[in-house]
Amino acid sequence: MKITRINVWALELPLSRPYSLAGGRFHFDHLDSTLVRLDTDEGISGWGEGCPWGSTYLPAFAGGIRAGVAELAPVILGMDPCRTEVVYRAMNSALPGHPYIKSAIDMACWDLAAICAGRPLCDLLGGRTAGRVRLHSSIPSGTPAEIMHEIEIARELGYTFHSVKIGADVAADIERMRFVDEQMAADEELTFDCNRSWLPAEAITVLNATRELNRVVEQPCDTIEQHLQVRRNVSQPLAIDESLKTMNDLLRIIETGACEVVGMKLTRVGGLSIARKIRDLCIEAGIQMNIEDTGGTTLQATAAVHLAHATPEPFRRATWLCFDKLTRNPVEAGAVNIDGWSVAPELPGIGAVPDVDALGEPIAVYGPS
Ligand code: MG
Repeated sequence: MKITRINVWALELPLSRPYSLAGGRFHFDHLDSTLVRLDTDEGISGWGEGCPWGSTYLPAFAGGIRAGVAELAPVILGMDPCRTEVVYRAMNSALPGHPYIKSAIDMACWDLAAICAGRPLCDLLGGRTAGRVRLHSSIPSGTPAEIMHEIEIARELGYTFHSVKIGADVAADIERMRFVDEQMAADEELTFDCNRSWLPAEAITVLNATRELNRVVEQPCDTIEQHLQVRRNVSQPLAIDESLKTMNDLLRIIETGACEVVGMKLTRVGGLSIARKIRDLCIEAGIQMNIEDTGGTTLQATAAVHLAHATPEPFRRATWLCFDKLTRNPVEAGAVNIDGWSVAPELPGIGAVPDVDALGEPIAVYGPS
């Protein structure tokens, strides 16, 4: 099988309500996604998506993905998409680094490989495990009342696991954490996600003032080194999310014992091909994972659900369906939220297919016409 054409769509995804991180540090009302469809000489196609969480969350932006696909298109045209590692090495040779721009192409290759195998993607990533995949909500930062209002909306959608965004103000954060923790039911799970917003001294102050809550606190500071400083001075379990960008970052995390949980987002680490290796290493090291992505439609979320469903409990902690926050999601089938849980679809491939009629004309097409 050979890749004969690469089609690219840009897709604006309005959020149903504006979103704030870390005390209003980042604030936006829509996402900018890129859909990639790889056509082949056997008449079947595979889909991938790359959608950063705005341009300020990570060193990644939508225009970068589109420029990167243009750069990589001549390299992957003519390659066999089912040879996912061979394609990935060719992308790395042609364009070292820039992991986030490779994820959509890599996802489309995995979609094709699974379609060709006649199996759902999870079965190519280790195999579907028992049970369902728990979902977590993503609760924007705000006053305690604003946070609880958002949690109530998430509860109505069935969520019992909440990722609450805090950060920026030590006194306000201590108050928010205590207040929100007190409102949790016995069956509800809670993570406080700081999104890099504290200095180590601030993190140590807040975490020691709230140590009796014993909740996972995610990405309190900017770097792994800063997390190590926090790790030595607090007792709560810590999660690293934004600072896990490469396999080498994970080796450093394991070597130093920097955290007990990682957030693994497909786009940030460079796609399914890298994420599945990180997943396996985390299992060896006893690290729990939130397996998810940085944004996007049902397509991107479903790819993450497949990897999560191929990861055994208790290592898979939760995943996230960004599309729950969108007012536009032109994708058929795929993972859905069932009372706060999800399952990988049974269809061959990713099992989530964008509606080409709703997408309109592609913004770029590479390959012979
Ligand atoms: Mg996070």
